[in-house]
Amino acid sequence: MDMNSTTDVRLGSVAHLLEGLATRRIDVIDLTTKLSHATPTLELPEPFANLIDFSLEEVSAYDQPGPYWKHHNIHTGEHIGTHLDAPVHWITGRDGKDVARIEPNRLIGPALVLDVSDEVAADPDFLLDIHHIRAWETAHGPIPDGGWLLIRTGWEARAHDRQQFLNNDETGPHSPGLTVDCAQWIAEESPLSGIGVETVGMDAGAAGAQEPPFPAHHYLLANDKYGVTSLRNLSQLPPTGAALIVAPLPIVGGTGSPARVLALVNA
Ligand code: MN
Repeated sequence: MDMNSTTDVRLGSVAHLLEGLATRRIDVIDLTTKLSHATPTLELPEPFANLIDFSLEEVSAYDQPGPYWKHHNIHTGEHIGTHLDAPVHWITGRDGKDVARIEPNRLIGPALVLDVSDEVAADPDFLLDIHHIRAWETAHGPIPDGGWLLIRTGWEARAHDRQQFLNNDETGPHSPGLTVDCAQWIAEESPLSGIGVETVGMDAGAAGAQEPPFPAHHYLLANDKYGVTSLRNLSQLPPTGAALIVAPLPIVGGTGSPARVLALVNA
């Protein structure tokens, strides 16, 4: 028997995965925005209170407070940079899970990439609707259990500039999101674990005017479905066939957490 065969029945799937990583037949794509004081973050209008941005506070740097080591305190809001929203983040999910209680197997699943970047280029207030997902399913097959729908909007191209990223004008922020029907369908009908977006939040910039307001938050978080934001590099993923790994910190009582989000793809 060929000991190196990838069809060796004695190899479990994890062994195949590790072999694929070692031989570079599986690539790891980092979908995470780097965290710094400059990471663009949500700006709520008056009278609402905003989270603090991320920052590092030096405690020692190989000097008197720590002659052999360097370490920092980190200061950050929960919903900063690439982060996961847990059910308790929203009033409709207030009896649901905090971020530490989300089962790890919900945080790993098939990545499904739906590209609406042309639509968003034509209309920054573009809302994804159920028919877009149905068209994706016609092309790529049914949404699998535990999938994560990653909505590619091209918004990443704005992420270097806070003003372009938030896209505020005198009428408020303008960025893509979901229709009310689509949010309700994902939350109540689909087998998805969650959605991922390139924007600062999983709802549209103008979602405060939808009914109910902020429908992605409203429906998904009420139904134990999750959202991750500020994703990068979705252009490097195929429509299907990638695996997503979402790794928020297990903050007890936390309504969300900055997360490292990785995708495994066939090279
Ligand atoms: Mn959030």
